[in-house]
Amino acid sequence: MMRVRVLPPDGIVCATAPRWTSRKAVIEFLSERYNWMQKAIHKVQSLPQPTSHNYSEGEQVLLFGITYSLHIQEIKPKEKAFVSIDGSIITLHINPDSSQKKREMLLHAFYKERLSMVVSVYMNDYQSKLKCNPIPFRILHRKSVWGTFNPRKRSIVFNINLAQVPLECVQYVVLHEMTHQYVPAHNADFYNKMAVFMPDWKERRTRLKQFGHQL
Ligand SMILES: [Zn+2]
Repeated sequence: MMRVRVLPPDGIVCATAPRWTSRKAVIEFLSERYNWMQKAIHKVQSLPQPTSHNYSEGEQVLLFGITYSLHIQEIKPKEKAFVSIDGSIITLHINPDSSQKKREMLLHAFYKERLSMVVSVYMNDYQSKLKCNPIPFRILHRKSVWGTFNPRKRSIVFNINLAQVPLECVQYVVLHEMTHQYVPAHNADFYNKMAVFMPDWKERRTRLKQFGHQL
């Protein structure tokens, strides 16, 4: 069976066909889908594009879906680096000669702290709604998942990048992972259970996917 997909972030067209497919059949298959491909490429390219960071003055960073500009503020020689937030500015109070890695670590520590507070609030709320025992959680760097529920340990790991997506999406991931304690698979049961407390989970998931492309 032939397949064609359009991949984010660049909109590269990826087609697969069984080895014995003729060149003519492939061309026909693709030309029939030409309009669809054009639309799909356009759609993928209009998603927010991935950004690389060097954490310098004026750079745009995200906190819970809101864009802030980064300000670098020099600290005294023995002062400890810290982060503050004021209006639309996130300030890294750090040695101006600090490496990109140091700045990233400082911002990530701030993300971790903020995300941890938010997740705790949502988890407490759903614990009382679901009438379940508290579930311990950790925040770690993860490449391809927003969260993981470990049924054996009954614990959750959240992706630190959640600090950059809108709160409604963080809330979705929290409820999603907590629902896995009752239903391990992503089946109708699972989504029905989640919909009781979050009727708009689908919209939130779509929004989360869009954000995922730029992180
Ligand atoms: Zn899941």
